[in-house]
Amino acid sequence: MQELIAGIHAHTTFSDGAGTHAELAQAAMKAGLDVLITTDHNVLVQGMDGYLQKGRRKMLLLAAEEIHDPTRQPGGNHMLMLGANRELAKFASDPQELIKQAKSANGLSFIAHPNDIALPHANEKAFPWTDWQISGFSGIELWNQLSEFKDRSSSRLKALFHVLFPNFYTLGPTPATLALWDQLLLSKPHPVVAIAGVDAHATKHHLGPFSRKVFPYEWHFKSLRTHLMTPKKLTGDLNADREMIWDALRKGHAFCAYDLPHPSNGFRFTCNTEDGLFWMGDTVSARSGLTFQARLPIRTHLRLIKDGKIIKEHHDREVLTHISKEPGIYRVEAYIDYHNRHRGWIFSNPIYATP
Ligand SMILES: [Zn+2]
Ligand SMILES: [Zn+2]
Repeated sequence: MQELIAGIHAHTTFSDGAGTHAELAQAAMKAGLDVLITTDHNVLVQGMDGYLQKGRRKMLLLAAEEIHDPTRQPGGNHMLMLGANRELAKFASDPQELIKQAKSANGLSFIAHPNDIALPHANEKAFPWTDWQISGFSGIELWNQLSEFKDRSSSRLKALFHVLFPNFYTLGPTPATLALWDQLLLSKPHPVVAIAGVDAHATKHHLGPFSRKVFPYEWHFKSLRTHLMTPKKLTGDLNADREMIWDALRKGHAFCAYDLPHPSNGFRFTCNTEDGLFWMGDTVSARSGLTFQARLPIRTHLRLIKDGKIIKEHHDREVLTHISKEPGIYRVEAYIDYHNRHRGWIFSNPIYATP
């Protein structure tokens, strides 16, 4: 397996972002991404998919979409529509219909910033997901960098500090979203893939006497990423590469990582059974016994979670192994110290062990 680093959920001038697709692609290249997925509000921008090449390095830009019903009051129910072969925004008012349409258009439907809160002191409204009767969606945005900013900026002073020093606020997916994900994993009859989204806009805001670009694209793309496990590196064949990326996301062959403290490249979470070696996102049979292994690029704090509960934890190690015959949903979290705080670093997709 290879590893591709993806930046997901960015807005361009086609909706409320400050940069063009070309500018975002440049920022993604500088930040070291292999893949950038833009998601403008209610518009699937066609003809933008392609590579930016610099020396031997390739960066693939894929234009996708973030769909919501603009007439809905209050706002919310935003869905990231990745890989769909046609415009689906007109189905936004009925989320279950939207999910059905996504499947027929080969698209992946991810619930965006599910627990988003309002920020009254900055005049920012809340955009949470509220319609939980739905089923059949691909996954959720476990970690949204803009939503986390709102969550951690309860006062004007905190918000100002976080805008000036953005490296200080990221601590991990919010406890509400982690709990929601575990609950969805246990209650839905299908996998719920987790992705990290930056929700980058890079717009200018006035902060008292200053005018400042809040969270430049390059900063977003360097910090919060979704790492994909793929059979190959990028080949340069646009259709094949595109399919390979959507397939990794569909299967949950992916983990979410905050890469500023230390690059998470090389993190692996696997399960060995008599049927072979399986990856995060896969479903395995617990019949013959399971050997889980999580491996980090450096020694730090590592946890194995089964059905929402911690079952094994090491505070200063790079490897965790666990042997079991118990069916359940197994996933891994890693934490790291950075700027005087213990912070969420890596959140794997689960391995689903069935009886
Ligand atoms: Zn949104
Ligand atoms: Zn967005």
